[in-house]
Amino acid sequence: MVSDPWDAVLERIDDAAKLTGVDPDVHRLLRTPRRMLEVAVPVRMDDGRVEVFTGWRVHHDTTRGPAKGGIRFHPELTAHEVCALAADMTFKTAVAKIPFGGAKGGVRCDPRRLSLAELERVTRRYTLEILPLLGPDKDIPAPDVNTDGRVMAWLMDTLAITQGHDIPGSVTGKPLSLGGTPAHAGATASGVLTCVRASFAALDVPLPGSRAIVQGFGKVGGTLAFLLASAGMRVIAVSDVGGAVYNAGGLDAIDLSDHVSATGSVVGFVGGERIDESDMWGLECELVVPAALSGAITEEVAGRLNAKVMVEAANGPTLPDADPVLERRGVVVVPDILANAGGVTASYFEWAQSRQGYAWDEETVATRLRSSMDDAFTAVWAKADTLSVSLRRGAFALALDRLAEAIEARGLFP
Ligand code: GLU
Repeated sequence: MVSDPWDAVLERIDDAAKLTGVDPDVHRLLRTPRRMLEVAVPVRMDDGRVEVFTGWRVHHDTTRGPAKGGIRFHPELTAHEVCALAADMTFKTAVAKIPFGGAKGGVRCDPRRLSLAELERVTRRYTLEILPLLGPDKDIPAPDVNTDGRVMAWLMDTLAITQGHDIPGSVTGKPLSLGGTPAHAGATASGVLTCVRASFAALDVPLPGSRAIVQGFGKVGGTLAFLLASAGMRVIAVSDVGGAVYNAGGLDAIDLSDHVSATGSVVGFVGGERIDESDMWGLECELVVPAALSGAITEEVAGRLNAKVMVEAANGPTLPDADPVLERRGVVVVPDILANAGGVTASYFEWAQSRQGYAWDEETVATRLRSSMDDAFTAVWAKADTLSVSLRRGAFALALDRLAEAIEARGLFP
């Protein structure tokens, strides 16, 4: 069983290399992250003690453009996970056809145990430690798990103070007051919705009335539940770290969101009954969306799914051993590197606006996002069809073709 996230990425790269017959030199290049910085993040805590956290920033590949990827704060973050997530960004930006390479970073810390002032000091010190890597033409961070616009604002401010001038194109997912782009906050969820619509249309499954289950009710899952319900779907079950709620007639996404804002969890929601997350996976439905952390869809969970389509809103939710089980059971999987590319695509639009010094209107951002996600879906579907493989294998193969073309065009220095 492959449970190490970096090994899992290597397995997918190796598979794509075999499928496409890519130049072995290109294959070897992509099996090794270009650079990886591990830093100590010493922070004075509110009680006067100094805590030393560990942080990372990894550039997996920068052939197609500056390194791009989020920063996450999580107590179980590891170097291998950051490398794997950085590689996923390389493949995601290639699938989305946006001019970026792949990066990821983060700090191993539990933000729920930090005061706001401690969180700010962690962010600013971490930024200072990874400073040599950052810049609008080098590496552009964005929010990820447990980070948001506020964290991005601190990051951008730290850069501005240390460099002596503002660099708005150095960060995406910024607050609107600092040049963020309107659709950024909901961009991942709306990109997921585009993939849901496109996959249902391709499979001839009607969206209205279809049943959906969503794992995770955070930044992506919470918005998505609302978007799915607005599109006419019945969101029959939702889970978060506290547990799961179920309503065969459909959960009211707005009431549920109010309940989560008030209590911190979906558990206890009066508009549904409590069920175990393990039972939720087996519910009969048309759509299942893992929108939480990686590794949720194990071989065992895959064996119990009763869904037609799975759209991966989270990064790396499916373990490699689960893929053949999903294929055997006929579950069509829209892979993470396509399904959640809406976030980084909106980041690209924000970066372009920051560098132009000219804000696009909200409708322009939303329309371009939809059409970019539609194009990516169509290209992946066509590639998978040509190769007669799953959408995941097709997406990696498509990305690898685009990467190989760029790597060959640049050549190797010296
Ligand atoms: N964290 C998001 C992702 O994993 C967005 C990254 C970005 O915009 O750079 O795709």
